[in-house]
Amino acid sequence: MTELTKLTLAEARDKLREGDVSSVELTQAFLKAIDDADALNAFVHKTPEIALERAKAADARIAEGDAPDMCGLPIGIKDLFCTKGVASQAASGILEGFKPEYESTVSQQLQDAGAVMLGKLNMDEFAMGSSNETSVYGNAVNPWRRGNDEAALTPGGSSGGSASAVAADLCLAATGTDTGGSIRQPAAFTGITGIKPTYGRCSRWGVVAFASSLDQAGPMTKDVRDAAIMLETMCGYDAKDSTSVELAVPNFEAMLTGDIRGKKIGIPNEYRIDGMPAEIEKLWADGIEMLKAAGAEIVDISLPHTKYALPAYYVIAPAEASSNLARYDGVRYGHRATLAAGDGITEMYEKTRAEGFGHEVQRRVMVGTYVLSAGFYDAYYNRARRVRTLIKQDFENVFAQGVDAILTPATPSAAFGLGEMSDADPIQMYLNDVFTVTVNLAGLPGVAVPTGLNAQGLPLGLQLIGRPWEEGDLLNTAYALEQAAGFVAKPGKWW
Ligand code: GLN
Repeated sequence: MTELTKLTLAEARDKLREGDVSSVELTQAFLKAIDDADALNAFVHKTPEIALERAKAADARIAEGDAPDMCGLPIGIKDLFCTKGVASQAASGILEGFKPEYESTVSQQLQDAGAVMLGKLNMDEFAMGSSNETSVYGNAVNPWRRGNDEAALTPGGSSGGSASAVAADLCLAATGTDTGGSIRQPAAFTGITGIKPTYGRCSRWGVVAFASSLDQAGPMTKDVRDAAIMLETMCGYDAKDSTSVELAVPNFEAMLTGDIRGKKIGIPNEYRIDGMPAEIEKLWADGIEMLKAAGAEIVDISLPHTKYALPAYYVIAPAEASSNLARYDGVRYGHRATLAAGDGITEMYEKTRAEGFGHEVQRRVMVGTYVLSAGFYDAYYNRARRVRTLIKQDFENVFAQGVDAILTPATPSAAFGLGEMSDADPIQMYLNDVFTVTVNLAGLPGVAVPTGLNAQGLPLGLQLIGRPWEEGDLLNTAYALEQAAGFVAKPGKWW
């Protein structure tokens, strides 16, 4: 039998049904893999007792014949999701020791379906970052390396621990969240699949808020089929999230026919950015050929406001973050600074927030409060909101012309070295999100699929952007692309 940890979610599900393996056996295999992979720093809170308890319950449920798809499948949960009684710190020092009294809706739905939580996964602090280097736990490490070079690479961010864990077979799949690319960029950097659903598909309740109008949860998996299976369990209407949408959740897996004949795929001219590396251009051109060969019609499209997306995102996201993070004041959650004699409440807030938040989070809070301040609100925040509307209209226009999906690169480069960007201007880091933020600003679904390796043997991914609420159709196009690309490479085990 294939090594248990190498199975896909779908394969493991089928083996559980056939009685070839038990959830306890699967869980034990993953717990061992996790313990052997401390060098990747992907899991930051391990929950072996919870995992084994849930695995036993899942085995009983499977034996009774009452088992949903996710039942008995070991997964990892990003540290941004509140998990009852289990540390949930959003990789921040300010939430030190925080163990929620409640469970996020998404992780509850997974738990109700019988999924087995192995532990919590590393990430950028409050999901702000593209390299996992802003985490209070230290960065997660990409299991991939450049050929024989031992230099440690970033798994991307913010869902870097999720990406690293899935790519290194430390769990069958993981939850991620995506505010500006945090599912899709790390998926592309580690050779896995990640989908950000339409805004409103997955409940945000119990997910630590970064930028509420942009945040969405989604699955990070070994392939497209697994993404379809896990997404179905994660999404659905939730009365506790006022932005959650009351729409039926289709059987996404059943929609994976691989038939995309006659589908119209748009290629946006504005995504041909200056200085795009030749390997990314080639990847994109190859992807276009693959979809064409599968019977899709390729059309050139224009999304004219694309160039304003990154600046608009880096006004709107920090604005919302500064407001969301105001609650971390040393009173209600986590860390509180030690005060000196004579310190009052203002000193408590100041010292607690200065000690508890890392540099990138502090930068975002300052940018956010600045763009929301009375004198600058119109010049920055309101202008960015107007740009956002124009970006959304760009997409609406191409969908109105009959375009079914849009193909772009997922990232402007392969995974870079940890520390390589530490002296760079923060804007260099923000440029990682150039192909992904438009999707969050417009609230659309987007999926990253690995389709090739670069000259150094690192994975590269393409992004497909779909019509709102049509994740099933989008996943089917991604499935056709995946089949055509035939990406099967795995990182060599060095950890
Ligand atoms: N890298 C982007 C940022 O730093 C996106 C993060 C995310 O999607 N959570 O804001």
